[in-house]
Amino acid sequence: MSSDTHELVIAGSGVAGLSAAVYAARADLDPLVLEGDEPGGQLTLTTDVENYLGFPEGVGGIELIQRGKEQAEQFGAEFQHDSIEAADLDGQPLELSLSTGETLRTRALIVATGASARWVGAEGEDELMGYGLSTCATCDGAFHRGDDVLVVGGGDSAMEEALFLAKFADSVTVVHRRDELRASEIMADRARDHKDIEFAWKTELVAIQGSQEDGVTGATLVSHPDGYPGEKYEAGEDVTVEEVDVSGVFYGIGHDPDTDFLQDTPIELDDDGYTQTTDADAWATTATAVNGVFTAGDVMDRDYQQAVTAAGTGSMAALDAEEWLEATTAASRDSARQISMEAGD
Ligand SMILES: Cc1cc2nc3c(=O)[nH]c(=O)nc-3n(C[C@H](O)[C@H](O)[C@H](O)COP(=O)(O)OP(=O)(O)OC[C@H]3O[C@@H](n4cnc5c(N)ncnc54)[C@H](O)[C@@H]3O)c2cc1C
Repeated sequence: MSSDTHELVIAGSGVAGLSAAVYAARADLDPLVLEGDEPGGQLTLTTDVENYLGFPEGVGGIELIQRGKEQAEQFGAEFQHDSIEAADLDGQPLELSLSTGETLRTRALIVATGASARWVGAEGEDELMGYGLSTCATCDGAFHRGDDVLVVGGGDSAMEEALFLAKFADSVTVVHRRDELRASEIMADRARDHKDIEFAWKTELVAIQGSQEDGVTGATLVSHPDGYPGEKYEAGEDVTVEEVDVSGVFYGIGHDPDTDFLQDTPIELDDDGYTQTTDADAWATTATAVNGVFTAGDVMDRDYQQAVTAAGTGSMAALDAEEWLEATTAASRDSARQISMEAGD
C-alpha cells in the first residue's frame, strides 16, 4: 500500500473525470486520475463531435479528450492507467484496491466511471462504431439527413432514438426481436404513430457492412415467425435472411453504469446501478451518501448522457469535493486546537 494519502482521486478519464481534474488541479488539490480500461472514455469511440460548445467546425472525439487531458496535466493533475476493483468506503481515509494490486488511500473520491452502451454483438460493429454505427441519436442523428437508418431495440431508449432520428432521416426502421415493445405505452404509441418509423418485428441485426472510409452501407437482418431469430441463426436453424441498404445503425438497448466496485459499499445505486446523490434532485449536488465521495457524468445521469453535461457535473463534483475537503480540514484543525487548549498546552 502506498504510504501517502491523496487529497483527491478521480475514477475515470472521460469528459467528466477530465473536467473534474481541471477544476481540482487549478484548486491545488493535486488530483490523481485513474484512467480505467478505456482512457478518454466513450468520446474516443466517435469521430466528429458537433454539439460541444466552442467548436463551431466540430471537433474529433479523440482530439477533444487529448486537449482536456493536456489542460488537466498543465495544472498539475496526474494520470495513472489503472482501474478500481474494490473500495472500502466505511471510514477515513477511503481505501481503493486497484487492478494492479496496489491499494490507494485518499480523503476524497470522485466517481466518474461512465455508463457503457450495450452492444448487440453484430459482425462489423467493432470497426464501424463511430463510423455510421452509433449508440447515441442525439449525438449523431444530424449526420443522417435524408438517410435510411435502423434502430435496434424495443424499450424506451430505442423509441427515443427512433423519434429523434425521424427528424432527419428519410426512413427509420426499428428492429426488434419480439412482436411487442417493452417501451412505455406513451413512447410506443408515439413511435408507432410516426409516419417515417417502421417496425421490423421478430427480427435481429446480425451484421453491418461498410468501412471507416465509406461509413455504414448496409446491414444483414434475420427474422423468424417465433421471434428471437438471432439464437436460431447462430444454431444453424432456418431463418429468413435479408440484406438492407442503410447508411446508419443506432443501438438503443440501454447502458450499463460502471459501478461494480461500489456494490458492497454504502454508496446508493439505483436498480440499474447508477450512482445516487444525497439530494432527490440529482443536479443539486454531486455528494453521495458517503462523506468525501462525489459522483459525476454518465454514471450518475441516466437521462442526458452528453459530453457537455458530463463536463458540467465533473466541474460540480470538483467544486463539491474542494468545499468538503476545506470544511473537514478546518474542522480537524479546530478540534486539535480545542484538545490542545484543554490539555493546557
Ligand atoms: C459513439 C458515441 C458517440 C458519442 N457522440 C457524442 C457527441 O457527439 N456529443 C456528445 O455530447 N456526447 C456524445 N456521446 C456521449 C458522450 O461520449 C458521453 O456522454 C460522455 O463520454 C460521458 O462522459 P463520462 O466521463 O461520464 O463517461 P465515459 O466517457 O464513459 O468515461 C468513463 C471513464 O471511466 C473509466 N472507468 C470505468 N470503470 C472504471 C473503474 N472501475 N476505475 C477507474 N476508471 C474506470 C473508463 O476507463 C473511462 O475513462 C457519444 C457516445 C458514444 C458512445
